[in-house]
Amino acid sequence: LLEIKNLGKSFDGVEVLKDISISVNRGEVLGIIGPSGSGKSTLLRCATGLEQADKGVISYEGSYGLVFQNFNLFPHYSVMKNITDAPIKVQKREKAEVYKEARELLKKMGLSDREKAYPFQLSGGQKQRVSIARALAMNPDILFFDEPTSALDPELTGEILKVIKELANENMTMVIVTHEMSFAQNVADHIIFMEDGYILEEGSPEEVFGSSNERMKMFLGKFC
Ligand code: ATP
Ligand code: MG
Repeated sequence: LLEIKNLGKSFDGVEVLKDISISVNRGEVLGIIGPSGSGKSTLLRCATGLEQADKGVISYEGSYGLVFQNFNLFPHYSVMKNITDAPIKVQKREKAEVYKEARELLKKMGLSDREKAYPFQLSGGQKQRVSIARALAMNPDILFFDEPTSALDPELTGEILKVIKELANENMTMVIVTHEMSFAQNVADHIIFMEDGYILEEGSPEEVFGSSNERMKMFLGKFC
């Protein structure tokens, strides 16, 4: 579904991605972990075209959605308009059908009673659930998350992780950058550990979390 080969990216002469190759099959969840500054967000930004890569090949089947750490909702739009705007304006889909689907998504996110609310009236967890609903409203083939819970306190983190876990159970294809190690371990089919622009370790959660690599053990030791 997604294939990245030999991706390279520099900022001001500093290489922040060095020969990254990944592939994600339909229904698969890829977890991306690694220390701050290792290039995780840059990888996601290059993969989704928000940033232009210098080297490498990125190929896709279908479309994708993006969920950011800071929600990125339109502050002057209601919850409903945040969700329905792009499907109606960009995808040119029929309004009634888009609204119907949006209400189903809100129900699924436990937000049925908030469709008329504005982002400033929502908690962080609710905002993030709206932004997940907004991404899903475009019917993407693959969903990218960049630290979807890092702006949330632990209680709200749980509700978002539960929503993502449900999506995984429904076989949604996802690429998730996260600092939530136990979540990565539970939900991802495949994990890559990035450091300094490289993939230092990758494999199944069992392989990566059971790795004997010293650097990997040190990183995980901070969390476990
Ligand atoms: P974190 O866990 O803190 O989010 P990260 O793994 O997502 O970190 P990136 O945001 O991808 O890290 O950054 C990788 C490196 O690229 C960092 O050294 C960062 O300073 C640099 N960088 C990222 N974006 C830019 C930019 N637009 N211009 C210059 N340097 C950048
Ligand atoms: Mg980042």
